[in-house]
Amino acid sequence: MHSFHRAQLALQQLESLSSPPESILRLLELTLCERPSVADIAALVRTDPALAVEVLRRLPPDARRRRNALDLPLAVTTLGVKGARELALRSPLRGEVSIFDAEEGAVCSLSARKHSVACGAVARELALALDYPDAEVAYAAGLLASIGLLAQWDLFSDELPQLRGQLASRPAQERLELEQRILGVDHESLGIVLAQSWNLPVELHDVLLAAYRSPEQIKRLAENGSDLMLMTIARCSSRLAHLAGFPCYAASRLEDAETDVVELLSEIDVEAVLEQARSAVGAASELSRPLARTTQAAFESMRRTHEELRRRLLETERQLRAEESVNTVLQYGLNRLGDGDPLPGVMFRAMESMGFHRLSCLELDEQSSKIEVRGSCAASGHTRVSEGIWMPYSGSLDGLVGPAILKRDDPSLERQAVLELIGVASAAFAPLRARVAGKRLALVADRGRAGRAPVAGEERCLGIIAEQLTLLLQFEELTKEKERLATQDPLTGAATRRRLMDRLEFMITQSTRTKLPFSLLIMDLDHFKQFNDTMGHQIGDRLLQDLVKILHRNVRKGDLVARYGGEEFVVLLPSCPLENAVAVADDLRTAVFDYGVEQRESYKGLPVSVSIGAAQWSGGELPLSLIARADAALYASKHAGRNRVTAAAA
Ligand code: GH3
Ligand code: MG
Ligand code: MG
Repeated sequence: MHSFHRAQLALQQLESLSSPPESILRLLELTLCERPSVADIAALVRTDPALAVEVLRRLPPDARRRRNALDLPLAVTTLGVKGARELALRSPLRGEVSIFDAEEGAVCSLSARKHSVACGAVARELALALDYPDAEVAYAAGLLASIGLLAQWDLFSDELPQLRGQLASRPAQERLELEQRILGVDHESLGIVLAQSWNLPVELHDVLLAAYRSPEQIKRLAENGSDLMLMTIARCSSRLAHLAGFPCYAASRLEDAETDVVELLSEIDVEAVLEQARSAVGAASELSRPLARTTQAAFESMRRTHEELRRRLLETERQLRAEESVNTVLQYGLNRLGDGDPLPGVMFRAMESMGFHRLSCLELDEQSSKIEVRGSCAASGHTRVSEGIWMPYSGSLDGLVGPAILKRDDPSLERQAVLELIGVASAAFAPLRARVAGKRLALVADRGRAGRAPVAGEERCLGIIAEQLTLLLQFEELTKEKERLATQDPLTGAATRRRLMDRLEFMITQSTRTKLPFSLLIMDLDHFKQFNDTMGHQIGDRLLQDLVKILHRNVRKGDLVARYGGEEFVVLLPSCPLENAVAVADDLRTAVFDYGVEQRESYKGLPVSVSIGAAQWSGGELPLSLIARADAALYASKHAGRNRVTAAAA
C-alpha cells in the first residue's frame, strides 16, 4: 500500500518521463522538415523509451487494445506525422539524465536510455532467433521494461547515486526490498503503476512484473493468459542488455541466471544475437543525434524555435477551446430550440465552457440611462450578481457597441458603470446583436474580484456566443408567436380548433383512466348573417368578441372555449356529466340573451341569441363522433326555434 501511495504521488509530479533532449530535438527536426517520413520517426521512437511511452499514450484506446498494441512502427503510423509533431512540440526539453556508475560512483556512460535501447534490441534479436511471431512487440516490451527505472532516476536523482552503490552487489529480490525501504517505492511497482495509469497495453504490465519474479511465478502469470514467451524474452534481454550495450560488462553476469533464462539461451546462438543487438544499439545512438551540430548555439536556437512553436501551439489550443465552447453553447441552444427561454441555460454553459466564474446578462436602457442586471449565474462557491439592481450611466452606448475587455482604467463612463455594477476590476463584455423583445441586452463574464483578468480573444469568443444567443432568443420569440397563432384565434382570443382537438384527445385519455364523465357544448349564433348584413362586418366581429368574453366569464377555470368555425363555438367541460352540461349551457344561453337585451340599441333591435347542443362523452367514443352528436343536437335546437339547448342522444 505504502509503495503504491508513493508511486501515485510520484505520478502526480511526473507529468512525463524526462526525455534526453537529443531525441526530442531530433523529432522536432524530423517533423519540421519538408517531407517527414513516418518510417524515420518510427525508427527514432525506438531509441527512446520516454518517447515510445508518449507515442503509446497518444494512441486511441481501441488501437491500444489490439494484440499488436506494442508494435511501435505501427503506433507511429497511427499517430501520423501531425501527431508526432504535436508530441515533439509539447515535450519538455530537460537536461541530461545523469547516471552514476555503480563501482566508481562517478557519472558514467551507462545512460538509462541506452540500457533500455539495448534491452529492446536484444529482445528483438531473441524473438527472431526463437521464431517468436512478433519481433516488433518484443522490441517494445524490452525497450519499455525499464520505464520504472527511468522514472526512478528521474524522481530520485538526489537519493539514487548513493543508493546505487549499495544496490549493485545485491541479488535482484533484495534490491527491490532495499529500494522500497529507502525510497519508499521500488522501480518495479513504479513501472507498473505508471503503465497502468498511462493505460499502456496490458501485455506490458506482465512484462514489467516478469523481470524480478521466479520462473514459477512467471508460469502462474502465463496461466492467466499472459504471453509466457514474451515475458521470458524480456527477462533474458534485461540480462543480456548489459553485454550488448556496455563493453565493460563481462559475460559472468549470466552465470547465476534463473532456469528459464538459461534454458532459453541454450536454444540459441547467444553470441550472434549479441552481435546483431550491438549494431542495433549503435545505429540507435546515431539516430537520436540531432542533425544540427550540438554546439551550445545550435541547441539554443533549437530551444527558441521550440518555445516559439510551443507558444503557437498554446495559442491554437486557446482558439480551439474557444471554438469548443462556442460549439457547446450552440449545440445546447439547438437541442432545446422552442423549449422555452434559452437564456439561463446558454449563460451557464458559456460560463462553464469558457472558464469564467460568473456570467451576467445586462439590459441597457438608453431612454432612462440605466444598466440593469436581468439575470446572472455563477460557478459553485461564487456569488451571483443580484438581479434587478441597476446603475445610471451617461446614456451613450458608444463604449458598449461591440465585444470588449472592460478594465478599470478605461475612460469610457459606460464601461466603468458596467464594472461598477458587477463589482469587479475587469470583465469580458459582449452586446447582443439585435434587440430582443425591444430590449438591448449584453453579456458580461468575470472571474470574481480575485480571479484572473480575461485575456485577449475571450471577448471575441463571448461576442460569438452573444450573436448565437441573439439568434436563439429571436427564434424563441418567433416560436412563441407562432405557437400563439396556432393555438389562439386572433379575432376573439378563443382557443383554435387545433388546440380544441388536442385538448379533446387529452380529455379522452384522462377520462378513460379516471372514469370521470366530461361533456362538450357546441353553439352557433342565431341569424348572425343578419347582423353582418344590417350593420356591417365590424359590428359582427364585435359581437363575436363579446360572445367569447361572455363565455369566458361564465365557465370554470379548467373549461376550454374554442372557436370551431365562423360563428360556432365549442366549450369543453371536464368532470361534468350531461345534466350539469345542459345546465351550464342554459346559463350561457341566458347570459348571451341578457347581453343582447342590454345592447339592444347597438344591434338595432336585433335579438342576440345562441342555439346549443350538449353531449357527454360515452366511453370509447372518437372525438369527431362526439362533436357530430353535439352538432346534431345543435341543429335540433335550431329547428325547434333557436335560442335553446338540446341534449344529444347517447
Ligand atoms: P343560423 O341561425 O341558421 O345559424 O343563421 P346564421 O345567419 O347565423 O347562419 P349562416 O351560417 O347562414 O351565417 C353565418 C354567417 O357568419 C356567415 C358569415 O358571413 C358570418 N361570419 C363567419 N365568420 C365571421 C367573422 O369572423 N366575422 C363576421 N363579421 N362574420 C362572420
Ligand atoms: Mg353557422
Ligand atoms: Mg348561425
